[in-house]
Amino acid sequence: MQTQALIFDIQDLSVQDGPGIRTTVFMKGCPLKCRWCSNPEGQLPYPELMHLNVLCNRTHNCILACPNKAVKSDDEYGAPVFDRSICRNCETLDCIESCPTFALKVSGKYITLEELIKKVKPNMPYYKNSGGGVTFSGGEPFLQAEFIRKFMDETSRFGLSVGVETCGMFDMDDVSGITEKLDFIYFDLKCMDDEIHREVTGSSNKIILSNLKHLAEKFSSKIIISVPVVPGVNDFAEQIKPIAEYCRKLGIYKIRLLPYHSMGEGKYYDLGREYKMDKNLSVPVKQLAVFKNLIESSGITCWLE
Ligand code: SF4
Ligand code: SF4
Repeated sequence: MQTQALIFDIQDLSVQDGPGIRTTVFMKGCPLKCRWCSNPEGQLPYPELMHLNVLCNRTHNCILACPNKAVKSDDEYGAPVFDRSICRNCETLDCIESCPTFALKVSGKYITLEELIKKVKPNMPYYKNSGGGVTFSGGEPFLQAEFIRKFMDETSRFGLSVGVETCGMFDMDDVSGITEKLDFIYFDLKCMDDEIHREVTGSSNKIILSNLKHLAEKFSSKIIISVPVVPGVNDFAEQIKPIAEYCRKLGIYKIRLLPYHSMGEGKYYDLGREYKMDKNLSVPVKQLAVFKNLIESSGITCWLE
């Protein structure tokens, strides 16, 4: 029985991850690799070192401190460069200790069921008064479904509301018994075209669409579809309309549109990865309004976030 979870953040006083005032728990590990993902530190299912370049003063203490010789100096700019294949297995974290400017940190830590309950329980008055609660987000929270199940078993005694934000790529067997008890499910639908979906997320959308269909058979009223509107991926009517039509067919009548932003860009470099989107792209508000109208013409409530 999973009684600890790998998370990369917890945000209190969250107002965008479901109704009321909520605590959002960001679970680490995601089966998709969306190009525009603003939480790249949530994608891999293990703790990762982040080098915050903006804080680094090039003292190179980390190069000397690393017992595994995982750090070298970049010849051009003198910045430390981390060999992630070696660094991944480190338990000493000597480099972090050695850094005088706090330019190194680990993304990802394990939290026990007891620790999480102890953290959220004192917030019950805020949750109750605002209609809020706890939202599991990520990454993909259902990859750690057993933890969520245990958490809900323990917290249902004091009436905690729990919701989930999912990318839709999970094993339906893993979530049986959980979905029934959730207050809402934010379910991502990026695009209906499988070829484009593969290209921009690294995976087919077949399992996602099948999972949505299965969930909608029982829980359509608690599903809210999240559509990230991404330039060059789905920012045209030919992609948005089929999403609305599929939702209506399944009896899902709520869609929120999340316009692309590049705020996660810096974190890609902190993780030693490349940002593959053009950070200067955006979706004009006028265009979003057109998509909203298009979705609403299918009888679906739609809003922008
Ligand atoms: S986390 Fe460990 S292996 Fe990685 S650079 Fe730091 S000391 Fe070296
Ligand atoms: S599904 Fe979400 S968390 Fe996963 S890669 Fe895509 S945007 Fe990131």
